[in-house]
Amino acid sequence: MDFDAIVIGSGFGGAITACRLAQKGQKVLILERGREWDKASYPRAVEDDWIWSHSHPEKYHGWLDLRVFKGMSVALGAGVGGGSLIYANISRVPPPTIFANGWPAEIKFSELAPYYATVGKMLNVQKVPANQWNPRMKLMREAATKLNDLNRFETLDLAVTFDKDLQYDFDQEPDISKSTMVPNEFGVLQGKCVHLGECDIGCRVYAKNTLDKNYIPSAVKKGAKVWPLHFVVNIEQIDGGYCVHFDRLADGDRIPGKATATRVIVAAGSLGSTELLLRCRDVTHSLPRLSSQLGKRWSSNGDFLTPALHILRSLWSDRGPTIASAINYLDGSQNGKVFWVQDGGIPNVLNKYFEAVSDRLQKAPNEPSWLETLAPHVILQHLALFSESHDLFRHIMPWFAQGVDAGDGELMLTDGSLDLKWDLSASLGLFNEIAAKHKQLAESTGGIPIPLPGWALDKELITPHPLGGCNMGATSADGVVDHKGEVFDYPNLFVADGAIIPRPLGVNPSRTIGALAERIAALIAV
Ligand SMILES: Cc1cc2nc3c(=O)[nH]c(=O)nc-3n(C[C@H](O)[C@H](O)[C@H](O)COP(=O)(O)OP(=O)(O)OC[C@H]3O[C@@H](n4cnc5c(N)ncnc54)[C@H](O)[C@@H]3O)c2cc1C
Repeated sequence: MDFDAIVIGSGFGGAITACRLAQKGQKVLILERGREWDKASYPRAVEDDWIWSHSHPEKYHGWLDLRVFKGMSVALGAGVGGGSLIYANISRVPPPTIFANGWPAEIKFSELAPYYATVGKMLNVQKVPANQWNPRMKLMREAATKLNDLNRFETLDLAVTFDKDLQYDFDQEPDISKSTMVPNEFGVLQGKCVHLGECDIGCRVYAKNTLDKNYIPSAVKKGAKVWPLHFVVNIEQIDGGYCVHFDRLADGDRIPGKATATRVIVAAGSLGSTELLLRCRDVTHSLPRLSSQLGKRWSSNGDFLTPALHILRSLWSDRGPTIASAINYLDGSQNGKVFWVQDGGIPNVLNKYFEAVSDRLQKAPNEPSWLETLAPHVILQHLALFSESHDLFRHIMPWFAQGVDAGDGELMLTDGSLDLKWDLSASLGLFNEIAAKHKQLAESTGGIPIPLPGWALDKELITPHPLGGCNMGATSADGVVDHKGEVFDYPNLFVADGAIIPRPLGVNPSRTIGALAERIAALIAV
């Protein structure tokens, strides 16, 4: 065998299992489809590599993988560090009630508690210092007070390094020079948060405690190899282990290759792992005994967004950590629906994008060929010019939420491509309840809610928190993997990411994915 363990994907599931297996002395290889990113390469300009293309990954292997299905789109990160590169850093342990049903008997809140603690420590989670609350956090607290729900207001644990001595006035542009880089406890250079509002597009001061700043370097220190731009296309069972087939993405080409290992950990995320295993079962037939449950019980984790215009307030939704506080209705007190509301931020991406469009328009106003690549360019052009003169995001509050949806989606292959069967009916009550709460909260603080056109006109949703597809279960009749993440009927083949979470969590999932990955790695005897 080339390696003791091959880990596919380098997000929460992959980085954590790779790190722990390397620390157990295993010879580990991480295969990651995306590239390594740093502040010199984060996408900013219109022509930068924003998008991951499924039809031509050899040419377009950008930062964001946006998958559009009927009724539901899914946003994912692509790169060494997976979703941590692009995420809003919320690291939340769900309430114990979430473990009351839907899990194998072994997975209990008390069982996961030590693993939750370990992940929190590794990601150095902390809250925004009291002297740096942004205007959206204050608006959240005010809205909770107006609704008599102040006891439900909470500030969130974020995987961000803050500087408690920083003085920052949100009416000023953030000052990048106020952050200095020092080595973190893993020996990697990181700065502290100066509220750039760049959490979702790559933090230029490295204040985010992303996986490439902790777990991955710890794995590398113990000898793990990381091969970026290696897109795994098949897993084959061989004597004593598995052969992993990949395409290396180089110079605009897909160059086939393979590597073998005794143990394989699939950690390509809810969509990535499920798609890969569906292909192995139904297209290449290399893993034909995978459970019939594969793809089933997929959840959007109840994500919902209502932007509101608070014209008389300066909210600066594009400054500060993307999200930093919540109003907690996870107790089911709102007509039985389980959810929480968060202060969404508008990642500085849109601002930057509009700035870049506007810049380009001024430099080359009559460049139709370039404009035509932007669809619908006329709207974009107007938005860009409007945002330049009106501080578009100063008065916008993106009221955000997650909740417990019906968890009844199904991932499948249609004509060889990943597809999602998403039926809104059983989850509609949750989304309506959240929309009503968003309206109440916005209006109680002088805001005008503006439901997203996709939802208002066509009940279209988008989630950054896909869960399930290779669910944990007691047997292969009700799951794809067991409580240890091991695939039924395939010893030493594991899934260790958001795909194994068998039900919606109602809160941001990365901490739970991390805790499960820690547990999976801890239970692997080497
Ligand atoms: C904009 C945004 C904001 C978010 N904010 C938060 C937040 O604040 N808190 C929170 O808890 N969660 C947040 N999330 C969700 C969080 O990022 C995910 O839940 C988490 O990253 C999932 O971890 P994972 O290990 O399952 O998969 P991922 O982190 O997605 O990692 C999977 C990795 O596998 C790679 N991969 C996929 N297919 C292949 C293949 N065939 N071959 C090789 N590699 C492959 C991918 O490139 C990726 O790097 C956010 C997500 C987005 C998009």
